[in-house]
Amino acid sequence: MDPKHTPEQLAQMTEVEIDTELSRLWNQEAQAESKRLGLQASLHAQLGDKGRRVQGARGLIFSLSWEQVLEQALIKTRTPYVGTTEGRAVAEIDGTLTNWALVSRKLEDLAAETKPYTDEYVRRGRWNRVFLAQSHDGHAHKGQNCSTCHRGENPTEFAWLIQYSGKTEAEIVADAGWRACTTCYPSAPVGDEETLPTKMFTPDEETARKAREEREADKAKRDADKTAKGITAPDGSPLRDKGSSRIATERTAVIEATDGLSDRYKNLRVAQIIEADPGLRPFFPDEERQTRNEAEERSYAMRLIVAIAHKRGVPGEEVLAELEPKAYAKAKRDLGGDWASRMRYSASFQREEYDAYLAQCETEGRKPWEALTLRWYKF
Ligand SMILES: [Zn+2]
Repeated sequence: MDPKHTPEQLAQMTEVEIDTELSRLWNQEAQAESKRLGLQASLHAQLGDKGRRVQGARGLIFSLSWEQVLEQALIKTRTPYVGTTEGRAVAEIDGTLTNWALVSRKLEDLAAETKPYTDEYVRRGRWNRVFLAQSHDGHAHKGQNCSTCHRGENPTEFAWLIQYSGKTEAEIVADAGWRACTTCYPSAPVGDEETLPTKMFTPDEETARKAREEREADKAKRDADKTAKGITAPDGSPLRDKGSSRIATERTAVIEATDGLSDRYKNLRVAQIIEADPGLRPFFPDEERQTRNEAEERSYAMRLIVAIAHKRGVPGEEVLAELEPKAYAKAKRDLGGDWASRMRYSASFQREEYDAYLAQCETEGRKPWEALTLRWYKF
């Protein structure tokens, strides 16, 4: 196989470029190696050597050596067999052997491809590299065989930070901060996350950091929205409703103001009904009380409108003009629908007036309650 880079190109490549190639090739090697081990385990099993797990050992432990298995497999596939069951078993062994040979060949090719880069690494006197322990102590090591690693039940796993290949120890120690392994980098000062913050992160930590930053950005946006939607009295003090509860958002202020303004339209509607059918007068609050309520409601609405206008930076008239049609629509909604039947029901508790009203309608020969569903004037 022709090498990917000529010796001249290789001599020109940076440490990062060479380690990038090596990282790619070593990953392929690791995959091929694990495939080869899997095929070997299959062949053991196909020859009746099941293998067993032993505590503290990685993978399966077999009774036969690999050489013995290979020899038996070759004998089986080269001896004439009897019967279809035996035939199927031999065909399976043959298939596994073929795949094993292919992946072994692949590993040889990869070793040959890797060699020029490792040679160049040695030729240049083995530059600095950074391997960040993903488990264990999270320290930044020069290589994957540091004596402080692989102390646990499982070997330490590393993230190779290729961007640091070829940097000076001073540069690495500066970026590593607390993470610098003092065995690998004897010049590294000793400190913790507070005193020696690090700039080195494993891919998992990078992912976690990005997720955290996104969450923080989301929260900042929500807070900004809250401010955008929020409202106070013009002097900055909390805006209060009639029960002196806090009105926090502009939306609530608009709803409350609209409600307050709608009182006037409700009273106009009631006046229209009573004018059409004076007999209904006893079933509505007296005029004086209605007028007083309306004034209170309107002054409440105007107080909120001043705050809304202040917040929007527009004249109060503009907000008022926007809310009046909404208030009219709200009055229509509130005194529409099943309002008429609710009116009649509550009127029935005023027994005397109720009976008198019905009698009057009878005398005048008209249907009661009709005025409650009159067409609305445009007030
Ligand atoms: Zn180390």
